[in-house]
Amino acid sequence: MHAHPRTYSPDSSPADISLAAIETATLAERFWTKVIVHGDDECWEWTACQNRGGYGRIGRGYTDEGTEQAHRVSWLIHNGRIPDGMHVLHTCDNAECTNPRHLYLGGNIENGRDRADRGRAVVPLGSRHPSSKLSADDVREIRRLHGSVSHKELARRYGVRYQSIQAIIKRKNWAWLT
Ligand SMILES: [Zn+2]
Repeated sequence: MHAHPRTYSPDSSPADISLAAIETATLAERFWTKVIVHGDDECWEWTACQNRGGYGRIGRGYTDEGTEQAHRVSWLIHNGRIPDGMHVLHTCDNAECTNPRHLYLGGNIENGRDRADRGRAVVPLGSRHPSSKLSADDVREIRRLHGSVSHKELARRYGVRYQSIQAIIKRKNWAWLT
């Protein structure tokens, strides 16, 4: 992962590096015009088109080449090639997010799980209130631990979404709790 989001380091063999660099650089430039970059741990919003699943879309280059999903392009820019048969998945349950720190590679099994998770996430508001699973003590403990334990790990430990942990730490949820 590179500190500066505009750093481009193609992960390809010397034989095809020139062509790949040209094509991807163009794509990368267009990519950065469509993303709002937030903090390292925050989701990065996609401001252009989205497909039905909520994934950002970006044209591959020429008009007849169709579109690619924005989070996959983010992966390509930051980490290089996506291996055959692998999916780029989100730790943050936010399909439009393009923060490379929220992306990981998974096979079909992980991809199915990711979709199932997102299916649960579209249940009407109220039944999925982000804090509903947690007690006040849990929230205090999360706030105490968040400097030393990653948000992802906290989400796993407490069985809540990554975004719930973010919201608790930023006091968007449980704001009243001291
Ligand atoms: Zn995210």
